[in-house]
Amino acid sequence: MQFHMNGFRAGDPEVVPSVVAAGTPAGLPDTVDVLIVGCGPAGLVLAAQLAAFPEITTRIVERKPGPLELGQADGVACRTVEMFDAFGLSDRLLREGYWVNETVFWGPDETDRARIVRTGRIQDVEDDLSEFPHLIVNQARIHAHLLDKMRKSARRLVPDYGLEVTGVQVRDGEYPVLVTLARAGTGSGTDLVRVRARYVVGCDGARSRVREAIGQRLAGDSANQAWGVMDVLAVTDFPDIRFKAAIKSTGGNVLIIPREGGYLVRCYIELDELAPGERVGSRGITLDSLIETARRIIHPYTIDVREVAWWSVYEIGQRLTARFDDAAAGSDREPRIFIAGDACHTHSPKAGQGMNVSMQDAFNLGWKLAAVLRGRSGPELLRTYSDERQAVARDLIAFDREWARMLGAPPKDPADPPGDGVEPEEFRRRFAASGRYTAGLATRYRPSMITGAATGQHLATGLPVGMRFHSAPVVRLADGRPMQLGHVAEADGRWRIYVFSDSSGVQRGSRAARALEYLADDRRSPIARCTPSEADIDAVVDVRVVICADHREIGLETLPALALPRKGALGLIDYEKAFCVDPSPGRDIYALRGIDRAAGCLVVVRPDQYVANVLPLDEVDKLDAFLSGFLLPAGHEVSMGRT
Ligand SMILES: Cc1cc2nc3c(=O)[nH]c(=O)nc-3n(C[C@H](O)[C@H](O)[C@H](O)COP(=O)(O)OP(=O)(O)OC[C@H]3O[C@@H](n4cnc5c(N)ncnc54)[C@H](O)[C@@H]3O)c2cc1C
Repeated sequence: MQFHMNGFRAGDPEVVPSVVAAGTPAGLPDTVDVLIVGCGPAGLVLAAQLAAFPEITTRIVERKPGPLELGQADGVACRTVEMFDAFGLSDRLLREGYWVNETVFWGPDETDRARIVRTGRIQDVEDDLSEFPHLIVNQARIHAHLLDKMRKSARRLVPDYGLEVTGVQVRDGEYPVLVTLARAGTGSGTDLVRVRARYVVGCDGARSRVREAIGQRLAGDSANQAWGVMDVLAVTDFPDIRFKAAIKSTGGNVLIIPREGGYLVRCYIELDELAPGERVGSRGITLDSLIETARRIIHPYTIDVREVAWWSVYEIGQRLTARFDDAAAGSDREPRIFIAGDACHTHSPKAGQGMNVSMQDAFNLGWKLAAVLRGRSGPELLRTYSDERQAVARDLIAFDREWARMLGAPPKDPADPPGDGVEPEEFRRRFAASGRYTAGLATRYRPSMITGAATGQHLATGLPVGMRFHSAPVVRLADGRPMQLGHVAEADGRWRIYVFSDSSGVQRGSRAARALEYLADDRRSPIARCTPSEADIDAVVDVRVVICADHREIGLETLPALALPRKGALGLIDYEKAFCVDPSPGRDIYALRGIDRAAGCLVVVRPDQYVANVLPLDEVDKLDAFLSGFLLPAGHEVSMGRT
């Protein structure tokens, strides 16, 4: 963590110097750059991302009177922990979360089908899928960490609670979106507040008002699946109570998820399918009936519930909207209103994707909004949000249908006709095969203005273009610190270029040195062209160097200037740009990520950590052409009238 760049700073380094003028009135201003609707995981990730930019005015409104305190989702996929690392929040999750190490499977005992026995066990996350584990952390804690990040940001952003959005319309002008809000509970007739925004993002959940305002509807299955979920402190003789356990018995199906803090356990109990339009509330399902169902399913084991921390019954359909923004297909009007998370896709909680995919939607959109508002990219960039995330959600719905069908199917009875029920071994195998997907690591964006065509993929076969940058160990050259290369990527809206040297390193005249010299050159370099003259050289594109050598063999003084840039108010040297191969067994980044030692390469990574391009070291002209496709020349932000 670096924090003395502009002069010595004492105190909590997480608290960024504020740009909010003393005496700024609380409450919503008349105009904002971005208005976010809803303080769920999607809205809070977006708010935490945008709050980092001093020049952007963001507000987030929530109809509830205060933050979520307990309940709802709890599965935190590896990809989400990676994203939290970019916000500087992964340590907290790792410390307080339950680590899902193994998943166990239980099914009917073949000798007495009224009893259950363990039928299998798998490692939950395959080796080297991510440097982070799969965690269980309550949604309320996820919210709390993001709220803390917002509060400590340059904008000191806090939500405006108790305000319900009742209408959203696009008009003309600099702030074209008019939003009307009512004090929650007063009904839509009493519009108390009007705000004009450049952009509005509806993160307002499955019954989204913003979605309705842009004429989108959730389409999909007409029937909903009812779910019972309870967080309990219980005494049981079921031996796998501290493992994630998928139990299929003749009495029904239950998913057991051990929770953070020890002792606590969540049980997901699949209930009946509801008729079209039917709400689960009308079934009168009670807590006692949920406990009774759980008891029946885990027979012959017993469970004595001593305390119920939270329980809920809710209905979920597999549904999706056609677009995630208000730009009509085929129209050239740029989008002004977006929707994210449950507002545009809903699915069962079984694969633990709801909260995770919602946050990834917001992470995808946040840097794009920031880039456009700061004049670094044109508004056409915003179209890529719906294109990319709608495709992800479509895949998710298809996956969830199949997943829910498999988890919900009864265990196969030898007397069943072929095709009925699921064999335990088949169940275990398909569960394992889906691990990459449920870890959030199967997303691959298609070629677009921000994702290259992968012509140089052979140079880094383990860093697929369109997929998230898969971190690997390195040693920092300046101080010999072993670390993960991916952890240099903060949620700061910057693009990154990793210059992987070939085996000749970065000595003068080497291919890597020539690439770095070109990038530093203030006449030709795409970086210099896109970086405002008063800003640090890495303000828009952050170049990092990985040298194919042991750090003890490389002198810091041999580094090209771009790897030791002078920055900040005092012109201090940034020593954290250059890395070497970790010589410990099994930690060589070139071997782990399939990087060609003889050729090296340039790996371009988006602000949301997805690989955008892989190029040969000497094809800097192609790099220039690629970056020019979405990065505007410096000075554009001034012509937009922004500061
Ligand atoms: C009761 C409930 C229980 C759930 N249980 C589980 C579970 O056990 N496991 C699981 O995996 N997933 C569960 N989910 C789903 C999971 O919580 C969601 O997938 C996830 O929260 C989606 O995040 P989001 O930010 O898109 O939306 P939400 O988390 O739904 O957040 C939307 C927010 O917008 C606010 N809002 C809505 N309309 C307005 C408006 N007009 N103006 C202002 N604010 C508004 C809402 O109050 C809410 O805070 C549950 C969801 C609910 C609602």
